[in-house]
Amino acid sequence: GSNSNNRVCHFKLVLLGDTAVGKSCLVVRFVRDEFFEYQEPTIGAAFLTQAVVLEDSTVKFEIWDTAGQERYRSLAPMYYRGASAAIVVYDVTNAESFKGAKSWVKELQRRGDPSVIIALAGNKADLAGTRRKVDLKEAEEYARENGLLHFETSAKDAQNVKTLFVEIAKRLPKAV
Ligand code: GDP
Repeated sequence: GSNSNNRVCHFKLVLLGDTAVGKSCLVVRFVRDEFFEYQEPTIGAAFLTQAVVLEDSTVKFEIWDTAGQERYRSLAPMYYRGASAAIVVYDVTNAESFKGAKSWVKELQRRGDPSVIIALAGNKADLAGTRRKVDLKEAEEYARENGLLHFETSAKDAQNVKTLFVEIAKRLPKAV
């Protein structure tokens, strides 16, 4: 579309998932295009913003980092309240983290905004060749059954990180 037609819409996006699956790294890769082997537990700021420019609109994500709050599950509802989108992250080399992701999805579907867009991200895909513990087909099937977007991502080599956010942006309802 033309520039005059380009609306800017703001959406709150949260990341959920077990500790150390790479939530902060995914955000840092997406926003700053950087990766650190020793990522600080939290990126510090309350939230970061990053825009995705689509054909007819610009989606501005307000991305909330959990700051380790996933350890305190009772605090989670406060954190995902009002979120238009959620990325539920697991680590493809950690089967337990996939169970964790499923339980986050269940909680979001029960208690999150009824129209929340949920994307499932199987992170650390760069390690999948030798250390995979979560089957791709199984994850895809689960995502399909539950109406989720699904991607295997790597914050380390940037695989599918931009795609993940762009596909979420495309699914969000744009105000006219
Ligand atoms: P969080 O607790 O979910 O926010 O996880 P972090 O973002 O702090 O990442 C935890 C650890 O996993 C760090 O040591 C990262 O360097 C590492 N990590 C994160 N993403 C990836 C990835 O895509 N590939 C690899 N190989 N390591 C990653």
